[in-house]
Amino acid sequence: MRILVVEDEAVLRESLKTRLEAAGFTVDEARDGEEGLFAGREYPLDVAIVDLGLPQVPGLEVIRRLRGEGKTYPILILTARDNWQDKVEGLQAGADDYVAKPFHFEEVLARVQALLRRSGGWASPQLKCGPVVLDTRAQTVNVRGEAVELTTFEYRILEHLMLRAGEVISKSELTERLYDQDYERDSNVIEVLIGRLRRKLDPKDELQPIETLRGRGYRFALARDAGT
Ligand code: CA
Repeated sequence: MRILVVEDEAVLRESLKTRLEAAGFTVDEARDGEEGLFAGREYPLDVAIVDLGLPQVPGLEVIRRLRGEGKTYPILILTARDNWQDKVEGLQAGADDYVAKPFHFEEVLARVQALLRRSGGWASPQLKCGPVVLDTRAQTVNVRGEAVELTTFEYRILEHLMLRAGEVISKSELTERLYDQDYERDSNVIEVLIGRLRRKLDPKDELQPIETLRGRGYRFALARDAGT
């Protein structure tokens, strides 16, 4: 999953980046509202964290403009502890949730993960599609109750496909979500990772969980379990 962090306090921004990366996210950083607007417009994001108190362009304005331009990814705002007006204004500007400073990283992570699940149409942190179960909190995958060991990149691809199970995801979209802007991109890597995922999830070639749509991309093909 690709996440933008817009925060002017360097120590806080760096610590969010490090911990989000450790949690499996690809992280883009912005140091002020102007950089935040640029990144929010240009990068293929799944979710954004926006501090409200920002130099150049205030956080509320960043959110209003991104929403005004049709950006629909979930946005979590960082607000001052006792300022309920900030929270209300942030939500009215188009944010989806908030965390008050100072916060525990675990709360930020839990809220970001919940926003991602809901934007993919999932209510529970366990994504269940037939025999394949992916737990977004533990970052584990089971097939018919048996644990499947995945590398970080394999997990990231599977999570992205399963969060949007049933939808076609292009190869370039997957590539953009694996690497941040500084990384050299190679779409052949995606093919290799998809091949490995197929062998690990479905060694006997019975389930065929990941479909290739020639020229369009990939789709997680197993139906979502009702009520999850
Ligand atoms: Ca600030």
